[in-house]
Amino acid sequence: MDSFGREVDYLRISITDRCNERCLYCLPENYQNWLPRGEVLAYEELLASVRAATTQGFKRFRVTGGEPLIRPGVVNFIRDLAATPGVESVMLSTNGTRLPELAWPLYEAGLRRVNISLDALDPAIYRGITQGDVRPVLEGIRRVKAIGYDSVKLNTVLMRGRNDGEIFRLLDFAAEHDIAIRFIELMPVSLTEMLSEKNFFPVTELLARLQREDELEPLTDALGFGPAQYYRLKKRGVTVGLIGALSNLHFCERCNKMRLTCDGKLRPCLGNHLETDLLPALRPQIDPQALAELFRQTLVVKPSEHLFRQNYQPQRVMTAIGG
Ligand code: SAM
Repeated sequence: MDSFGREVDYLRISITDRCNERCLYCLPENYQNWLPRGEVLAYEELLASVRAATTQGFKRFRVTGGEPLIRPGVVNFIRDLAATPGVESVMLSTNGTRLPELAWPLYEAGLRRVNISLDALDPAIYRGITQGDVRPVLEGIRRVKAIGYDSVKLNTVLMRGRNDGEIFRLLDFAAEHDIAIRFIELMPVSLTEMLSEKNFFPVTELLARLQREDELEPLTDALGFGPAQYYRLKKRGVTVGLIGALSNLHFCERCNKMRLTCDGKLRPCLGNHLETDLLPALRPQIDPQALAELFRQTLVVKPSEHLFRQNYQPQRVMTAIGG
């Protein structure tokens, strides 16, 4: 429980800042400032942090990045994470490019919940946003559905003039594959050109468009553990989630999350520069008690609200923080 009575039990863990795609909204153009490998936490240090988190009530853990599936050893890490006492749910956020070969090994390691970024279906639009190839991502989505993961969701970051023309195709694709899809407003979390007023597409505008095109039923039962507002589009037969960090004024009220950056900083809020450095409790030796105390202290200072509406200026790239 944090100082505002919120049940904070969800930790997002970035296991690498590196990515095999270069999304317009995520990385600055020609970005090369990757962290030296030695600065990225070893799996053993990540697992020690997870154990410390469980002593403070954390139960759900999402593995993210950068692109988590490009880090060697990720399957065994997921296996160890899933086997850690106190860990009730292990989730993954991925761009899906490596799912064709990893969907089964990950399932076998204990992963059951996966969110896949899909910003467009049209190959040229997809490439324009990510600089990557959409085909392996679509293959990966088919693979996780065929295996029967408990939860598969698509994440689409909305950008005016880039992928707003893809919205209904994406909804049809999600309906066809029986997958929930979430649309995410651009957030000022990285240092890129894309983050301008001109590209911002509010989820309130999307909601109005959906209301014109379909019959919406608000879903009150939470789907997953995050901040999305969910609706069932009755005509299309698909569940859609709207994540509006800027336009939803109640966005932080039920925030249940903290984030561990891949270089060992614990962030109680994505839209705030507060960070607790875990390294003194991890190196040269792991000190489980000191680590648990750092988690406790960070929970106490978790802010009531993000600063995105107060001209928040990001200082780190998103990939190190992990979305
Ligand atoms: N590579 C993985 C993936 O694609 O899910 C994990 C990391 S990625 C940074 C996590 C999520 O953050 C993705 O859904 C991505 O689209 C989203 N994201 C990144 N930058 C964003 C921004 N400026 N605004 C909104 N969402 C963003």
